[in-house]
Amino acid sequence: MITGATRLAGVVGQPISHSMSPILHNAWLAAAGIDGVYVPFAVTPEAFAAFVNGLRGGSVAGLNVTVPFKTQALALADTITDRARLAQAANVLVFQEDGGILADNTDGLGLLAAFAQQAPGFDPAAAPLAILGAGGAARGAAAAFLSAGATDIRVINRTLARAQEIAADLGPAVRAYGLDQAAQAFEGVGALINATSAGLSGSAGLDAPLAATPSTAVVMDMVYKPLITPFLAQARALGRPTVDGLAMLIGQAVPSFAAFYGQTPPPGVDVRTLAKQALGL
Ligand code: NAP
Repeated sequence: MITGATRLAGVVGQPISHSMSPILHNAWLAAAGIDGVYVPFAVTPEAFAAFVNGLRGGSVAGLNVTVPFKTQALALADTITDRARLAQAANVLVFQEDGGILADNTDGLGLLAAFAQQAPGFDPAAAPLAILGAGGAARGAAAAFLSAGATDIRVINRTLARAQEIAADLGPAVRAYGLDQAAQAFEGVGALINATSAGLSGSAGLDAPLAATPSTAVVMDMVYKPLITPFLAQARALGRPTVDGLAMLIGQAVPSFAAFYGQTPPPGVDVRTLAKQALGL
């Protein structure tokens, strides 16, 4: 039941009708008995700044932010957490009572949570790590692995200059490679993460030389539609252990929920099964 005291949060993006976040958050709200609701907001790029600024003051507790607004969201904030600054992208905005906006990025936490859950023996400090892509997701992943102790991160991107920018910003533990150097960058890695949008919604997957990774390398894809992307299917065919993007999505939603509703999600809610049902699985 929605009451006069219902705490409102949501997710903003374009398109947004595909978002899994309302399913996760509303299942947790119901199980925790919180008087709250979480809704999707479809906003055009032209209207995004006015929409966000109009929520200052806390009529809405907070927003998750998804494609294509993560960079714009950061620019509208008054306070920025270190991890959002490092990622140069925000996936969480919290509206404070004094009118301020706090920007955070929980995608890195989600990534680490996904590895902890689906590849429990994985140690980011034990071997080099390879990340494909150089957008906000790749940058956030490199920052999260650095904070988790990684000492050799290889960022591989179609546009080399974008990978070089990440390496310059994050320091000597991060090195940049072009896609044509991928096989070299995959040598000896403990994990390979696809943080490109290739493979999304049935688009052609990335043509990456996965066989160049060691047989023990954990292969992860941030894309979760489809859940088993062509990239993950290729990794599985090679016998590599895999981690999927849905585990990351759920992992980033946990601290987002805490930011909006003041408590961690209740245990025992099988949100993965709910999300898989929504994916038709
Ligand atoms: P972005 O800023 O748009 O970056 C996209 C990256 O993909 C760029 O590095 C781009 O290379 C590369 N790319 C796109 N198509 C390619 C192709 N056909 N071949 C080679 N490279 C290609 O996006 P983002 O925000 O970083 O997000 C990346 C992906 O992660 C998205 O699919 C997003 O949905 C996913 N994601 C998932 C989660 C989760 O919770 N599971 C969280 C965050 C993001 P160029 O630089 O050369 O253009």
